[in-house]
Amino acid sequence: MLRASSSYFAHSDTGRARRANEDAYFARSPVFVVADGMGGAQAGEVASRVAIEAFERGLDDGGATSAEQLLADRVQEANTRIHEMSQASQDRAGMGTTITAAHVGHHDVAVAHVGDSRAYLIREGQLSRITNDHSWVFEQVQAGMLTEAEAEKHPLRNVITRALGGALQVNPDASEIEARAGDVILLCSDGLTGMVPENEILRLVTENNGDLQKACQQLIDAANERGGLDNVTAVLVKTV
Ligand code: CA
Repeated sequence: MLRASSSYFAHSDTGRARRANEDAYFARSPVFVVADGMGGAQAGEVASRVAIEAFERGLDDGGATSAEQLLADRVQEANTRIHEMSQASQDRAGMGTTITAAHVGHHDVAVAHVGDSRAYLIREGQLSRITNDHSWVFEQVQAGMLTEAEAEKHPLRNVITRALGGALQVNPDASEIEARAGDVILLCSDGLTGMVPENEILRLVTENNGDLQKACQQLIDAANERGGLDNVTAVLVKTV
């Protein structure tokens, strides 16, 4: 189950408006992670880095345990550590981070996430979201109170409803999809999706899907050309 099966490229950029980059990523096949930290006095950078560190030893071969459960366990572990650190120091009080973690296997892709960093599947010229944002605007769209278009422009679009670090327990969403050869998985922070429309993301990935480094750079350039108001991180993985 836990075998590497992909080519990949990942990059993170501070953007044009922020002084520091509070995003972090991890990319070592078959495990890929994006985290988008928040909190003053560099605490956001600490939170996202600590979240990533929980994945650096890779996933254990869980035997009967599914990849999505292994990912969810690591998310929980990261949450505990960030929560403890936030309790231990004034400067780190209230720090938190999103996390979106994927295991890309030969036959399936498992994803666990908390917050609004997204995972997408790009297959045969179509882009689909694997994750649902844990955000106030997403909940309003689900409830029929806002349209997608209204949500994208809404002043509260950055308000997330779940994050790592806020409480001792966290409830990640975890799911698994079947993988096909040639699928591209994109993990990204909201610095990409807040700046670049999904049809443009799809176009840039599809046009460059033979060169993931170029695709990744063009996604980041597109966010910066539109203002680069946030840190932007993109991890691209192509299944073989
Ligand atoms: Ca962000």
